[in-house]
Amino acid sequence: MSERFDFIVIGGGSGGIACARRAAQYGAKVLIIESGPLGGTCVNVGCVPKKVMWTTSQINETLDLAKDYGFRIERLGFDWPTIKQSRDAYVSRLNGIYGRNLDDSGVALVRGKAKFSTSHSIAVNGDEFHAHHILIATGGAPSVPNMPGAELGITSDGFFKLAHQPKKILVIGAGYIATELAGLMHGLGSEVSMLLRKDKLLRTFDRDVHEMVMAQMRQSGIEIMTKVTLQSLVKGNNTLGYRDHEGNGKDGFDCIIWAIGRHTNIANLNLEVAGVEVDARGNIQTDEFQNSSANGIYAVGDVTHRAQLTPVAIAAGRKLANRLFDNQTDARLDYENIPTVIFSHPPIGSVGLSEADARAKYGDDQIKIYKHFFIDMHYAVTEHKPRTLVKLIVHGADQRVVGCHVVGRGADEMIQGFAIAVKMGATKQDFDNTVAIHPTAAEELVTLR
Ligand code: FAD
Ligand code: NDP
Repeated sequence: MSERFDFIVIGGGSGGIACARRAAQYGAKVLIIESGPLGGTCVNVGCVPKKVMWTTSQINETLDLAKDYGFRIERLGFDWPTIKQSRDAYVSRLNGIYGRNLDDSGVALVRGKAKFSTSHSIAVNGDEFHAHHILIATGGAPSVPNMPGAELGITSDGFFKLAHQPKKILVIGAGYIATELAGLMHGLGSEVSMLLRKDKLLRTFDRDVHEMVMAQMRQSGIEIMTKVTLQSLVKGNNTLGYRDHEGNGKDGFDCIIWAIGRHTNIANLNLEVAGVEVDARGNIQTDEFQNSSANGIYAVGDVTHRAQLTPVAIAAGRKLANRLFDNQTDARLDYENIPTVIFSHPPIGSVGLSEADARAKYGDDQIKIYKHFFIDMHYAVTEHKPRTLVKLIVHGADQRVVGCHVVGRGADEMIQGFAIAVKMGATKQDFDNTVAIHPTAAEELVTLR
């Protein structure tokens, strides 16, 4: 079979689906090709099942606090298979909704692995499809290093397949996934150790943020081993372990999770045939309009390795469709001030520059810091009293807010609104002029002195 379309999208994940549907809305004849379940990483092995597990863990923490609020509850334990079954059912439901949405938008769907046969033709399952415009939105996959015993560890993909709760877990890595999975599994009662090759978790985040999260995770009982030069994973009597460069290590884990970053899905796409350039790490290079090095071929989302977040892939995809099929010639995603949340324990909400980046960009004398550590009223009557941090980084004489960071309960829901203010160029005075909402943790951001 051979068929011509206006637009072919490779990858039915966050970016691909958003772009395909927007293009079809403008009347383009669109084909999307997907080799796995619809929805991509976010829906199937990312944000969605992760958030369900984070919420599960939060509920356990709330139950821990309940007795301090006067509730007498008999705790009969936690049943992992129950939540896994409900979570899987929810993901399947979303797969169905994504399929119906494509149908309703008039986007054609072909299942299979796509590859370029020429710069404007795609081969899949022995069929050929042609288009003047082609989008690569093939996302990424978890990386596993090449070392003895590496196959003994699972990745975040494997984590979502676990049929039973591991009791003693080693998480290797220092980024988003390592921090989130370690936190939520500890919250669910597993014994958790983390192994870092350097000395900090989330070291690209603001220093107060990563120091506070690391300290609270340690205080809660998570073991964080730093500066470990990992050499191998090993298997003993029904348990797993690791060894460092001196042969030292630990055993006794029933699950080891690699969370050391992700690589792009470009293998077998035949990018050479299309003339699409990738950098040394396999990331597709694009300009600010998502154009690749080849005429008529574009890339959005994780395959470009820029801000690997679902709303970024979606926004870049929609802007591209606006430009290609609605004549919005300047449409492009502004990658500045992208807000982000880490669903850690405690959660982090962050937008704009870290203190270090702001000082490097503007100079020490141009930067002022406002920060406050406090105990959220949620913990007023509880024995457990974790601190919350709110921090503003302001620049210049007009004190424009260039960084806003929150660590603590509610940070995940708080930062979206503040991100609008930062994106609009709000000043410290704008924050001060906003009447507080009391009693909340968020009010601390408009009452900073
Ligand atoms: P994907 O969603 O990965 O979609 C790519 C699609 O292309 C896949 O479905 C794949 O099967 C398909 N594909 C690949 N090659 C081919 C081919 N040759 N032919 C046909 N199809 C192909 N982001 C957030 O914003 N918030 C979160 O809370 C969050 N949590 C996360 C938790 C985890 C554990 C992980 C791993 C990621 C998380 N992310 C989160 C990141 C988010 O999932 C990604 O940034 C987002 O999914 C990227 O979208 P994408 O469209 O670029 O790629
Ligand atoms: P990240 O890039 O966030 O972190 C991986 C970290 O692991 C690196 O920063 C590095 O930290 C460490 N690392 C790298 N190689 C090794 C190694 N060989 N041995 C030990 N440690 C190593 O990747 P993740 O896999 O955690 O997540 C991928 C992306 O997915 C994230 O960047 C994020 O964009 C997205 N995501 C978003 C979420 C959200 O929005 N809440 C949740 C989960 C993922 P160092 O250099 O300090 O050692």
